[in-house]
Amino acid sequence: MKIAIIGGGIAGSSLYYMLKKRGHEVKVLDPRIRRIFPSLIHSMLLKGKDVYLAKKSLEFYREFNVATKEFPSVTIGRVDDSVVESWREVGVEVKEEYVPWLSAKGLVARGGDRLVYVKRLIDSVPVIRERASIAQRGNKVDVTINDKSLEAEVYVLATGPWNHLLFPVNTKSYYCWASLVLNENSLFDQTFVYDYEKGFYSRPFLGVGMRLSIVGDGKTVVASPGTKVKVNPLEVIDKAKERLGKLYHVYTSGEFCEGTPDMRPAYGRLLDNLYYIGGLNGYGAEVGPGVASLLVEMILEGKEDREYLLDRFNGIKDFDLGKEPHEL
Ligand SMILES: Cc1cc2nc3c(=O)[nH]c(=O)nc-3n(C[C@H](O)[C@H](O)[C@H](O)COP(=O)(O)OP(=O)(O)OC[C@H]3O[C@@H](n4cnc5c(N)ncnc54)[C@H](O)[C@@H]3O)c2cc1C
Repeated sequence: MKIAIIGGGIAGSSLYYMLKKRGHEVKVLDPRIRRIFPSLIHSMLLKGKDVYLAKKSLEFYREFNVATKEFPSVTIGRVDDSVVESWREVGVEVKEEYVPWLSAKGLVARGGDRLVYVKRLIDSVPVIRERASIAQRGNKVDVTINDKSLEAEVYVLATGPWNHLLFPVNTKSYYCWASLVLNENSLFDQTFVYDYEKGFYSRPFLGVGMRLSIVGDGKTVVASPGTKVKVNPLEVIDKAKERLGKLYHVYTSGEFCEGTPDMRPAYGRLLDNLYYIGGLNGYGAEVGPGVASLLVEMILEGKEDREYLLDRFNGIKDFDLGKEPHEL
């Protein structure tokens, strides 16, 4: 089958490899208008079925040799026993311990958290560096590049925060950001911290024991991709300081994500020849390839997992974005 994927981020790139493996002729279009960060968090410390999507994503990274680097994590704050049990089911080792360098009791996890070098995945996919346009004709779409028709049997809309600008899907784009900080302890560059009491996360920067880490709080500001958004990084740094002690702001960087009414991912069939994958919110590296595998099953075998179908938002007129998914 001839398949054209519109958007070559984490979703589009994962789909490319999965569909190629099944013997299909796949093209990916992407004008590269989004900044790609070298590494992102991949964590299995999620809630509900997302844990299994994260496990599937990890299997994808292993199969397609996408580099990952594992680190221990400390989760501070109340977490339901059933959630911890689901982390254990996917092979994470979890112990409750007092962590002296954080002066806090937390859930210390091994095997659950890593950095995944997503830029390497995205850069390895051959893309046509063009912006696609979509026009609906009855129950189908025509896709064009520079007014020239792009022929395919199936199209996949995978443009993240641009999705709702190209087709009327019930999602919003938002800006989210994180800050690089210098601290006094090299352990911060070798440990993930999810602090639900103070309301921030900290992740290794390079993971080689420098005194640098990246902190964020998953806050969202609804905005169109590409617009200028002013944020105050000191809000999250002040929260992190309460736990981590002295921190010095180095720089803050952000990009746009696609949010859904329940802040969980979505996929589905929009028209006879158009499919959708998105709503990856702030955790596309964690669940993106897992959702891509659901979409492959839908396109090729007609299977569906109702929990993640986009049509669960039908009838919702407007919505406010909630907290990013790492909030347990
Ligand atoms: C600061 C920050 C930190 C983050 N940290 C993490 C993290 O640690 N872990 C994690 O899992 N997630 C993280 N995320 C979220 C993650 O980046 C997203 O979930 C993920 O990028 C979504 O992937 P996607 O493929 O759906 O969309 P995108 O990555 O946004 O890709 C969409 C692509 O579509 C292309 N496009 C746009 N318009 C067109 C068009 N007309 N035609 C063709 N192509 C088009 C764009 O160029 C872009 O490459 C973070 C996000 C931000 C902003």
